[in-house]
Amino acid sequence: MGSNFLGEVNGYSHRASPILSAAELLARTGVNLQRGMNYRESGGLLSVFLVLEHDGVYTDEWDEDSETYTFQGHDSTLRQAQGELPKGKQVDQLAMYSDGRVTDNGKFYKAAQAFAEGVRREPLQIEVYEKLDPGVWFDKGIFNLVDAKQVTAGAKGAERKVFKFYLNPAGNRAGSAESEADYHERMLSATEKVAIWSEAQGRCAVCSTQSALHFAKSNGNNFALLCETHASRPSRGLLG
Ligand SMILES: [Zn+2]
Repeated sequence: MGSNFLGEVNGYSHRASPILSAAELLARTGVNLQRGMNYRESGGLLSVFLVLEHDGVYTDEWDEDSETYTFQGHDSTLRQAQGELPKGKQVDQLAMYSDGRVTDNGKFYKAAQAFAEGVRREPLQIEVYEKLDPGVWFDKGIFNLVDAKQVTAGAKGAERKVFKFYLNPAGNRAGSAESEADYHERMLSATEKVAIWSEAQGRCAVCSTQSALHFAKSNGNNFALLCETHASRPSRGLLG
């Protein structure tokens, strides 16, 4: 069921690196790179989530045991743009604007609920990309949207309602050609990736090259930024 991350989706299976430039991401997805959530149900392109930092914090979470990736909904960008709010942060996230337009939160929530309730048979598939740097992105792969909830978040006295979207990596790990190294690289948190990328200044920790880079385990369990040679990964998808 669903697409294999290493499969034929959009024909981008055998890349030397999951790291891409903003221009490449734009060409591939056509989405506004400032917007975290981009809903698409038809037209041959998948929906897109962009993992962006908000006030120095990433709100996404990964639970390895249940293989559940949690993505937080978007704040009220419309009311922000209209100058009604200093920031979207202090208010509840909305499913619908006052003019009746459904927000992306609302569209994804509806799709998630429909799948969770068995109304739709196939989950909505979403491409997820993490922002490493203003011009650099990481392809986290394709996920299935399996559920969503509205939850209360925030510090005491400043609580608000936010949307949480629950996703599973698309494709069956056991049945896919994806290596353990690729899987762990993909699921490494954006917080960790950004810290490693920034410290390494976008270069291989061994030879300083800036091409075909990976987040790979260098010694023991520590991840480092390494080129495909020093990461011992001749090409994505093969045993590595
Ligand atoms: Zn190297």
